[in-house]
Amino acid sequence: MADTAALYDTYARAPMRFERGEGVWLVTEAGERYLDFAAGVAVNALGHAHPHLVAALKDQAEKLWHVSNLYEAPGQEKLARRLIDNTFADKVFFTNSGAEALECAIKTARRYHYAKGHPERFHIVTFEGAFHGRTIATIAAGGQQKYIDGFGPKAPGFDQVPFEDMEAVEAAVTEATAGILLEPVQGEGGLRAFSKEFLRDIRALCDERGLLLILDEVQCGVGRTGRLFAYEHSGIVPDIMAVAKGIGGGFPMGACLATAEAASGMVAGTHGSTYGGNPLAMAVGNAVLDVVLAEGFLRHVEDVALVFRQGLASLKDRYPEVIEEIRGMGLMIGIKAKIPAGDLIQAMRAEKLLGVLAGDNVVRLLPPLVTTAEEARLGLARLEKAAEAISKR
Ligand SMILES: *Cc1c(COP(=O)(O)O)cnc(C)c1O
Repeated sequence: MADTAALYDTYARAPMRFERGEGVWLVTEAGERYLDFAAGVAVNALGHAHPHLVAALKDQAEKLWHVSNLYEAPGQEKLARRLIDNTFADKVFFTNSGAEALECAIKTARRYHYAKGHPERFHIVTFEGAFHGRTIATIAAGGQQKYIDGFGPKAPGFDQVPFEDMEAVEAAVTEATAGILLEPVQGEGGLRAFSKEFLRDIRALCDERGLLLILDEVQCGVGRTGRLFAYEHSGIVPDIMAVAKGIGGGFPMGACLATAEAASGMVAGTHGSTYGGNPLAMAVGNAVLDVVLAEGFLRHVEDVALVFRQGLASLKDRYPEVIEEIRGMGLMIGIKAKIPAGDLIQAMRAEKLLGVLAGDNVVRLLPPLVTTAEEARLGLARLEKAAEAISKR
């Protein structure tokens, strides 16, 4: 029985109690099997209990759990080197969560200008629909009033503009601006992707005005869109990038990546984390990369994404009274609903299919990246039953 009274009331939890997981499946205490296309909100990138991750975690658990950042960190060095070899970055700082990766990204950008003799340049331009986490700084960055209300004055230095509004960005950039922060594909905001053209214009503006481009790839990174990182689709590179969720495959971890230039203000003593880069997290992070960087893995993501895209296009045609639009990139899929999105989530649950609500009346499908074409079709069949049940009401 649920004893929710003992917990903070911050979450509206669904009455489901999962006991274990196997690949794309979640099994309840009562033994019911759900197809998990929520994947812990894009966290379980390799599904549940992936044998390579389990082995890496067990192996590390028998050797060393924690030593702190007082000493050299072989696991961090290895994972950082691999991230650098596969991205724009020269430097990595490890965190325990997405919000902490964003905090590090924000501090890195501010400190860069401070170290250049411009302490007044601490403002960051962000976009409506953004979600960057729940810390005091990241709720201000995200700009959503419902997350800001009641927690004292909004942290200063975040200037929000409408989605993809270049004129508004240009108007918001002043002598006090340090950088521009965005999610290449907005997750919580409703699966909106910035266009390649807009991202190129933003990059050009940053270069022209000496601003740092900060990407939040906490949700869209680590193979989710069919590339290792979503920015690769646009042909531009950021100066700083926050990563989390998929990189730990379910083990809590995050990272802030930066060019050497952007990270140049982050000298000894400017930042730290007790657990960040913990050996257990590094062992799992390295194991995730073993799989995601393996030959053909991202190809697989694109192939399965195509199965979803075609199946969903057909569902949208057949159930126009339920589905308004299909959005997203790769295996970061948004179904904008005609009916309340929560009703679709409920109907999916009745078919033992899990998805996640997002803003803008969107249901997110974030299947594990290891989902097979067959599992994708099974999920689409369940989604169809859910749509049918709604349309018959
Ligand atoms: C989940 C998320 C965060 C926050 O990550 P936490 O680990 O919950 O702190 C930040 N940005 C984006 C885009 C996210 O999806």
